This record gives sequence, C-alpha cells and structure tokens, in this order.
Amino acid sequence: MAQIKKGGQGLIVSKTLLRKSGVRPRKRLGQNFLEDPAVIEKIIAHAGFDKNDVVIEIGSGLGALTIPTLPYIYHLVAIEKDLLLITMLKERLSLKEKEKITFISGDVLKLDVKEIYDRFNQKIRIIGNLPYNISSPFLERLIINRDYIKNAILMFQYEFAQRLTAKPKNKEYGALSVISQYYAKISPLIKIKRDAFYPKPKVDSMVLEMDFTKPYPLQAENEVNFHKIVRSAFSCRRKTVLNSLERGMASLSREIIAKALGKCLIDPKRRAETLTIDEYIHLSSVLMPDKTIP
Ligand code: SAM
Repeated sequence: MAQIKKGGQGLIVSKTLLRKSGVRPRKRLGQNFLEDPAVIEKIIAHAGFDKNDVVIEIGSGLGALTIPTLPYIYHLVAIEKDLLLITMLKERLSLKEKEKITFISGDVLKLDVKEIYDRFNQKIRIIGNLPYNISSPFLERLIINRDYIKNAILMFQYEFAQRLTAKPKNKEYGALSVISQYYAKISPLIKIKRDAFYPKPKVDSMVLEMDFTKPYPLQAENEVNFHKIVRSAFSCRRKTVLNSLERGMASLSREIIAKALGKCLIDPKRRAETLTIDEYIHLSSVLMPDKTIP
C-alpha cells in the first residue's frame, strides 16, 4: 500500500467549505461528503495508484478523493452532476492540478468510457464514493464497459457491498452476487462508519475493489442465457430451483429443465442460493432454448 503524500489542500473539510459558501448538500444527488482524513488516506493507499494511471472519478464533489489522488497518477477525469460543485472544486485547485484533470459535467450513467479509453489508449481505473441511489445501474454500466476498465475502487452502502461479495448459502447471495463475481474479482477493502461523512448518512459503507482483469475463471457459452438462468433461479428465492426456473424460463418445459438439472448433477429440490457460480455456468450451457439435451 502506498503512503499518501502529505501537504497541499488534499485533505479537506467539506462541511466548512459548504457552510462558508452557503451551499446545502443535495440529498437527491446522494451528497454525503467524506470528512475523515484517515479514511480518505486509507482509500487512496488501498487503491495503490501508479504514475501512468488514467482514473475516472465518479462524483468528485468537493474533491475529498480527487485532490489526494492527483499526485499519484497521470490524469483524472472527474464526472460530477452538480455544476456548482465543479466550480467550487476548480477554485481549490492549483494550475498544476488543473492540468491533470478533465471535468465532465453530467450523469455518469451516460458516460462514454470507450471515448476516454481511446483518448488515452489504455485501460482506465475508476474511483468513487458513489451516490447510493445509482449503485445498481452504475454497476450495469461498469459491466457493459468492462473491456475498457482495469479495476474500480468503489464505496457502496454496506448492505449492497455485502450482496456483491456474498458466497453461496448466505442470505445476501443473489443474482447480483453471481453476475458481478462472474465479470470481476471482488475484494472487500475497508468498512467505513457513517460518522466519516457530512451529512451523516443512516447506514455504514464499504469500499471494495472490482478487478475486471480477473474475471471468473470459467466462461459461460452464452452470457445472455447465463444472465437469464441466474435471474430466473433467484426470482422466487423460497421455491426450489426447478420451480423457479419453470416460472422464469417460460419457453422451456418442466421436463426439459429437470433433465438439464440432472445432467448437471443439481438436485432439483435445491434453492437458488445454494448453487455455486460454476453450477450456474454449467447449467446455462446445458439448458438453452433450441438446444436438445442428450
Ligand atoms: N467524492 C465526494 C466525496 O467523497 O466527498 C462526493 C461523494 S457524494 C457521496 C456523491 C457525488 O456524486 C456528489 O458530489 C453528487 O453530486 C454526485 N452525483 C450524484 N449523482 C450523480 C450522477 N448520476 N452522475 C455524476 N455525479 C453524480
């Protein structure tokens, strides 16, 4: 882990800045700003940035993560929906710091990651203390753009992060866990108490790393079918996997589904949360519309 460089205005106190400017945090934009310098330091250290890295920051806010990241990297693209915060952050930057940042004022869910990848001709790293109300759609965007991304250091609501990292037979294990862990190696890094933010949110958070250079070692034959099977299996958690799949895979008969489960050595009475990622991948290559099961 790298030691954070001290000095400059890197570690800021958002509350003071906001009060001085008479600006109120906007709940709708999930504006809970990082306040605790020790936490900021830990996140940057865990990220282990390199001087050649191109980083996209999601929701730069007042720069709590932006400014301390800059000394370690080549260039940072900050995307922020609140134009006022971009203006406030720009005022805090030195000329040298400004040269290292491209600001994009807009919605991260519409960001063209490929364009940034093409501009710098390298895979991008991502960092962000995410506005929690966009966690799921943002994750979908990450997965769609995975070919352009090296890894992402992201802060999520604690419960959401638990779902992302959950293993089989765990009550948090679901379609989100299987699909995310299929595309990236996910490692929990730091649990962060709600006191680290201003204003203080109602829940704790978790920073985790999603490494898209290390996807699940086994590949599905047909990823669309894999998604469909996983989502169908988890659509009724209290039902057996056979019953859930019968409901979710409307074009397939109960007999075909039972035969495919048998072929994969999966007891049809098991529940979706007991199946491993390997088993879902295997099942998705056997149970395919238009494919006969020998
Ligand atoms: N990075 C800052 C920090 O740690 O203090 C701010 C984090 S705050 C939880 C989330 C930030 O994302 C806010 O600045 C908010 O305005 C911005 N934001 C919210 N929705 C967004 C979206 N759809 N696209 C881009 N930025 C967004």
